[in-house]
Amino acid sequence: MILAILETTKGALTETSLETVTAARDLAHKSNYSVTALLMGKGVSALAPTLKGIQTVLVAEDSRLEGYLPDALAGIAAHAIRQKSPKIVLAPGTETGNDLMARVAARLNLGLATNCVEFFVEGGSLKRVTRSNWGGSLLEEVEILSSPALLTLAPHALAAQSADGAAPVVESFSVTLSEKDLRVWMKELIPTEKKGISLTDAKVVIGGGRGMGSAEAFKMLEELASLLHNAAVGATRVATNNNWRPHSDQIGQTGVQIAPDLYIACGISGAIQHMVGCKNSKKILAINKDPEAPIFQRADYGVIGDLHQIVPALIAELKKLKGG
Ligand SMILES: Cc1cc2nc3c(=O)[nH]c(=O)nc-3n(C[C@H](O)[C@H](O)[C@H](O)COP(=O)(O)OP(=O)(O)OC[C@H]3O[C@@H](n4cnc5c(N)ncnc54)[C@H](O)[C@@H]3O)c2cc1C
Repeated sequence: MILAILETTKGALTETSLETVTAARDLAHKSNYSVTALLMGKGVSALAPTLKGIQTVLVAEDSRLEGYLPDALAGIAAHAIRQKSPKIVLAPGTETGNDLMARVAARLNLGLATNCVEFFVEGGSLKRVTRSNWGGSLLEEVEILSSPALLTLAPHALAAQSADGAAPVVESFSVTLSEKDLRVWMKELIPTEKKGISLTDAKVVIGGGRGMGSAEAFKMLEELASLLHNAAVGATRVATNNNWRPHSDQIGQTGVQIAPDLYIACGISGAIQHMVGCKNSKKILAINKDPEAPIFQRADYGVIGDLHQIVPALIAELKKLKGG
């Protein structure tokens, strides 16, 4: 049996959970296993019948399970694994999904492969998986020796697909929670306040790094963005660590992954941790005063010089073009 541990938000299954169910169904098809989903939380029972194409849904419903409670949820998931003895356990490879599964793996003394993008089934059993690392720059093939195989699915590794068929059998799964299980909980989820176009949607992204020198200097990047169509401003970790920009503007391994038509990198050296976040840009224009900066090896266009002269010159030219 394959156990799919699912996440919900605001009373609905998350997109990554639907992807996890799709992957579990696909794995089941190749291995002849059945699929059981585990839903944990307050008010999750109503979602169980919507999970078509799988055999069973375990519902661990409790009014105290509101939001992300790592100890409580890991305890319930570990209990379900002990009781149901699945061969494979699959969860979404989100921040919370990976966190939860790491706790489950520690409790059960099992191995865990996070952010899987491909599964290799041979002779009806799972032999290997491919994991995505470093923002997709490194693919790693992993053999899982412990059983059950604990896995998380990299978000958007595949598209969620709905299935027809009968509604699954719904089983309620009894939850015993102690004070200890409720010690840690996610108190509040604060969405970042972002005005204008998001970095992931922008067609042009202008990134600023250490070479910007100050928060003040980013104003010229904002001005440049306002003169371009569908443009947004991002930053490197150096800029966010210096509080020149909010963390939500960070592009890279520990930040946002962007894929604009054009990325204009200003005063950015091109460290691998930054480049994994912008490698899907169609074109990269680098402005850097050091001709040896590694970013020039990745850039389609390069301007060697001081950005504090080049960016204002660019703004002036664009204003002229716009008749300003
Ligand atoms: C685990 C881990 C995760 C990380 N995650 C991220 C991440 O998500 N995103 C990220 O960005 N980094 C990340 N980093 C940090 C990364 O390794 C680099 O340190 C960082 O990207 C460098 O930022 P930078 O290019 O702004 O600074 P630097 O590397 O210092 O480069 C500054 C560049 O600006 C140029 N310059 C200076 N003055 C001017 C000027 N006046 N005009 C033109 N050019 C000028 C210099 O020639 C230089 O090339 C991570 C590091 C680790 C260890």
